[in-house]
Amino acid sequence: MNIFLGISASTGINTGKAFVIPEPVQRIIPQFPVSSQDVEKEWNRFTRAKDKISEKIKRQLDSLSNDSKQDKIQRELFETYLLMLDDPVFLEELKTELEGNPFNIEYILDIKTEEYAGRLRNSGNDYLTERAQDICDIFGRVLNELLNIRPFNIEQVPDGSVIVAKEMNPSDTIILSKRKIAGLALIEGGVSSHVAILARNYDIPAVFGLEKITKQVHTGERLIVDGTAGEIIQSPDEQTLSDYTRKIEEEKQHKQKILEFRDKPAQTKDGTKFNLYANIGTPDEAKIAAEEGADGIGLFRTEFLFMSESSESQVRTRSMSEEEQFEAYKSVLEVMKDKPVVIRTLDAGGDKIISAADLPYEEEKNPMMGLRAIRLTLQFTQLLKTQFRALYRASIYGNLKIMLPLITSTEQVIKAKEIAHQVMEELESENIPFNKDVPIGIMIETAAAGITADCLAKVSDFFSIGTNDLTQYTLGVDRENISVAPLYNEFHLAVLRLIQKTIEAANDQKIPISVCGEMASKTDSVMVLAGMGIRNLSMGPRRISYIKENLSNITIDELQAISAKSLNNL
Ligand code: PEP
Ligand code: MG
Repeated sequence: MNIFLGISASTGINTGKAFVIPEPVQRIIPQFPVSSQDVEKEWNRFTRAKDKISEKIKRQLDSLSNDSKQDKIQRELFETYLLMLDDPVFLEELKTELEGNPFNIEYILDIKTEEYAGRLRNSGNDYLTERAQDICDIFGRVLNELLNIRPFNIEQVPDGSVIVAKEMNPSDTIILSKRKIAGLALIEGGVSSHVAILARNYDIPAVFGLEKITKQVHTGERLIVDGTAGEIIQSPDEQTLSDYTRKIEEEKQHKQKILEFRDKPAQTKDGTKFNLYANIGTPDEAKIAAEEGADGIGLFRTEFLFMSESSESQVRTRSMSEEEQFEAYKSVLEVMKDKPVVIRTLDAGGDKIISAADLPYEEEKNPMMGLRAIRLTLQFTQLLKTQFRALYRASIYGNLKIMLPLITSTEQVIKAKEIAHQVMEELESENIPFNKDVPIGIMIETAAAGITADCLAKVSDFFSIGTNDLTQYTLGVDRENISVAPLYNEFHLAVLRLIQKTIEAANDQKIPISVCGEMASKTDSVMVLAGMGIRNLSMGPRRISYIKENLSNITIDELQAISAKSLNNL
């Protein structure tokens, strides 16, 4: 038995078999000349590798169902891949290059693929630009076959596994919704990282900051994930296993007990009412929110729509057409019926790198401070326009509110609203129905926004405080970086004062205010926020019943005393 100590990223206890995710293999392309007699041999090597990949894709195509929407997207992609693999023009170019410049086929294929992708990227045509990524993807697989590289496929993780890895990219997290994952044991990742947020949404215990765990744990070993204590127990002895089995059972019973809160209103012991909304990242999670008795959706992180798996070898990100976005927003609005649904415009960049063709991306030295969220969509306005069009078209199906992320100035709000107006005019001229009165609110998640909340309140229809980024940017502490995790303190007086200032500004201007950062989902911070006057909280849907239970045990006076203590830093 061995115990690893880390930090709690998602509470709860579970046990399962370790699945250690290997670190990605770097593709190194060799370069060497070949004699003219060997040119044919090289070409045959290429065609064998290409045919093998074609066969694999055909097998995958056969396994797809005809009616699932997700499978339809996969099918289209696989069919495109097959066409690309047999594109006579590209194959001819490749052969001519090999004959005129006799080098090993991996080297020639790498150069020609990049050249082909570059031509598509520069075509100025959206469809072709997007195909550039497909070309790199599919011929990358042929290269892997030639080089005998077997890339790891996240889909190989079986149900019931505890994922042990150095880190998980937001796009890898698709697995959390597709499989029954027993827990996460990661070396890297902060408690407010998106992986942690998703783990909490799916009720998966997670411990981060586990140095060297990938070297010391082997796939198949039994692990206990104690997400509450921040511990991983490797190969537990009988006594420990039986203690934990009892604790897991108790947790199950508690979960069962709090189910009674699902249909009850959220209120304190002395009757002060709260609205508890859900944070979601996919339309499917809206169903969980409805099931958990959410009063609406307080935050739909739309960037997760752009992250969906579609190739065998890697999870890749994708563009979202207006139509696909429209369908996603409409389905969430319909699930939530007349309850409010706050949909946030794309918050890509930072740690949520989306490499779809319609998202310009250049490596940044400091991405968290870079071209993220509203900065990105105001620079590449087509992204925002497409999203607004999809949102306004969906607006007639429910109670929509639009939210802008990472605002630092009133100008940004005004500019985004101008684009929204242009879109509304366009839709009107096309006779497409929409709701003209969709409120447009903003996230308060930078110190700049908190300090100037009085000005921002005059141009915004509502505020929602994003305490994850507000903490990060106010304290200058990267929310993802485990080495500075002890400094990431949501109760820091600077953060609390900014929250207080924001509440005052919203109240003065009489606009609604909520909190949708992780502070809204944890019992200790909810107490402070509630005592400061927050009545609207948005959290992972599975947290709703727990927060209702906590509020039901306390009075408003007690809550005020708790927040006064925190604000006075006593
Ligand atoms: C936040 O920053 O608190 C927030 C809710 O947004 P995200 O976690 O998606 O950055
Ligand atoms: Mg944020």
